This record gives sequence, structure tokens and C-alpha cells, in this order.
Amino acid sequence: MTVRTQVVVIGGGQAGLAAGYHLRRLGIDFVILDAQTEPGGAWQHTWDSLHLFSPAAYSSLPGWFMPPQAGEEYPDADHVVTYLRDYEKRYELPVERPVRVQGVHRDGELLRVETDSGTWRAGAVISATGTWWRPFLPAVPGRGDFDGRQLHTVEYRNPQDFAGRRVIVIGGGNSGAQIAADLAYDTELTWVTQRPPRYLADDVDGRALFDAATARRRVLDEGRTDTGGVASLGDIVAVPPVRAARDRGLLKATPMFTRLVPGGVEWADGTRAEADAIIWCTGFRPALSHFVPLQLRGRRGHIATDGTRAVDEPRLHLLGYGDWTGPASATLIGVGRPAREAAREISALLAGTT
Ligand code: FAD
Repeated sequence: MTVRTQVVVIGGGQAGLAAGYHLRRLGIDFVILDAQTEPGGAWQHTWDSLHLFSPAAYSSLPGWFMPPQAGEEYPDADHVVTYLRDYEKRYELPVERPVRVQGVHRDGELLRVETDSGTWRAGAVISATGTWWRPFLPAVPGRGDFDGRQLHTVEYRNPQDFAGRRVIVIGGGNSGAQIAADLAYDTELTWVTQRPPRYLADDVDGRALFDAATARRRVLDEGRTDTGGVASLGDIVAVPPVRAARDRGLLKATPMFTRLVPGGVEWADGTRAEADAIIWCTGFRPALSHFVPLQLRGRRGHIATDGTRAVDEPRLHLLGYGDWTGPASATLIGVGRPAREAAREISALLAGTT
């Protein structure tokens, strides 16, 4: 089967849906191809206690505010999944599931999108595949020697799985702090971070982060000196469970160890900690392997972009992967603006006016 359309959007999480919203408004013919069997992108797979770090109204995609969740100032992941499902229906976005894109190829005037369920040919492609699907594990000596359980953030669900166990959580970002807080009450926890944890002020939540990202964008647009945006504020949003565990003295960070050993980990001075499980909360990389045929890979697995447009392939836009594809573009509220810009640029490209 080969289908011809104007634009293929790869990925049907929040970024793909925001792109769909703007493409529809511009009257462009498109399809969204999503590898999941159900709507909701990565939000379907997060740990049980995860809540957003912003209130609902500050977690909205273009066009329609996220409804508040009864009894919760900060909605949980299930609420986000419901919102994304309803958003798709509301705007009648043409999502095909499950369809996994295997490769994007140049094909004369068009791009050819090969999938496990057929081929699409399009004048432009927007990639919105997120990062959840490419967990990052640092190269630490002895990883194969440890004989307990090792898992990444993406596999962690709840503390019941580890009750009474000795658990080492690695990572001083939001995932590390939240998972450590989740485990602090029922396990023998060691929390390991590369540098001392940097908490944002307790009254700073996702709203302030979004404001900082917006301010940074303005500064960059006006050619003024970069403020450093969100990263300058700290690493960890002190969401209520993190604050509670920290204030009870349960979140004490230990510096990074040097290697793993059969029963645990070891620091440079020979000190050891025993562990039944090690949870690597060490981040993600963009899921871009479908672009291997285009040979666009640049530094750190990124593709060079100007806004959302790939510098070396103007028919390709990248959306939602992080600040390098638009300030705050990896958040619900932040992806709307780069999605609009990508759709406008593609509209001009298809009309031959660029
Ligand atoms: P995803 O949700 O990952 O969606 C991508 C979709 O593309 C998926 O359905 C995937 O299956 C599909 N896909 C991937 N590869 C292919 C392929 N080859 N072919 C077809 N389909 C493919 N943001 C906030 O705004 N507020 C928060 O509170 C917040 N908390 C977060 C907490 C955690 C732990 C994490 C990791 C992120 C958080 N974020 C938050 C950031 C961000 O909103 C989420 O990561 C969000 O899921 C990103 O959406 P996305 O659409 O870019 O990617």
C-alpha cells in the first residue's frame, strides 16, 4: 500500500497532535502515524504517582484548555491521557495506530515514509516521536557485574515492587528526585547524584518554568545575551511529594559512585553500598532512528535545526524534543508555538512561496 498526502506527522503524542491542530487550521492534508495502540503517547507509561508540575490550565495544547482534575491542583498522568484522547476526537485528527515508521527516504520531490503497515509519500514530514523510547544509560564500569535488578525510569512503576528492599536511585533531575521520594518510605533508599541536588524555590512550578522559557525566547529573538532560561533556575521542581520527603530528611543525596560490583556499588575510597535494585534516572535521547537513511545526524544525536526545520533537509521539521527544537517545546504548553511555526513554514513550502 502506498498513500500520497501533503504532510506525514510521525508520532501521535502531544507534539504530533499540536502539529495536527495547526496543519488542519491551514487546510493542509495530513496523516499522523503513531506506534502506540492507544492515544496518550508516553503519558500512558509513566510511574503510578506521577503528577504534572503545572496546574491544568498551564498544561494545555493549542485551542482547548486542559480541564481541571477534580481534587488535584496538579493533574495526574491518566488525566493527561484522557485529555489527549479527547483532544484528538475534538479536532478529528487523522491518527493511524499502531503504525511504526521504520525509515524516511528522499524520493525526488517527495519524502517517502516506510512503515510496518505500508508506505506514505509526502511533500513534508514533521517528526514528533519524543524521547521516552530512547532511555539513556551512562557508561559506568561494572554494569554487567551487578547481579541485582537494574532498570531505567521508563520501567519504574511503584514502590510496592521494591518494599523492604535496598534500592539505589541514580539521578539528580526531576525523575530521580520524584522516584527517590516515591521510594523513600518503604525501602532502604540510597539516592546518588552527580552534583548536590539543585531544588527550585518551593513556590516555583511549571508556570514559572514556562515564563522563563518564554522570556529566554524573547531575549534570543531580540539578539540580546542569553539568560540561560529554565536551566538557570535549578534542576528539580519541588513538587509536593518531593518537598514532603525532603523536609522529613528522607532525601539525602550521595555523590556518584565509581563502579558497580556484584552486590552493589563502590566509591573511589573503597566504600560500598549493597543493593537489591538500581534505578537509572539518567535521562533520554531523541527517538530519531527513522532518519538514519537521510544521514542528518549531528552532535549528541541531534539533527541541526533552524527553529524546527532541519538545516540539511528543509522538508523535515522536528518538534517537541527539547529547547533545540523550540524553547519549552518538550512541554504541553510550550509545544503549541513551535507547532504553529512548523505548520506555517510547511504551508509556504508546499505553496512554493519559500
Ligand atoms: P511522546 O509522548 O513520547 O509521544 C511520541 C509518540 O511517538 C509516541 O506515541 C510514540 O509511540 C510515537 N513514536 C515514537 N517513535 C515512532 C515511530 N518510529 N513511528 C511512529 N510513532 C513513533 N511536560 C509538561 O508539560 N508537564 C509536566 O509535568 C511534565 N512532566 C514530565 C515528567 C516526566 C517523567 C517526563 C519524562 C516528561 C515530562 N514532561 C512534562 C515532558 C513532556 O511533556 C513529555 O515527555 C511528553 O510525553 C512529550 O510528548 P511528545 O509528544 O513529544 O512525545
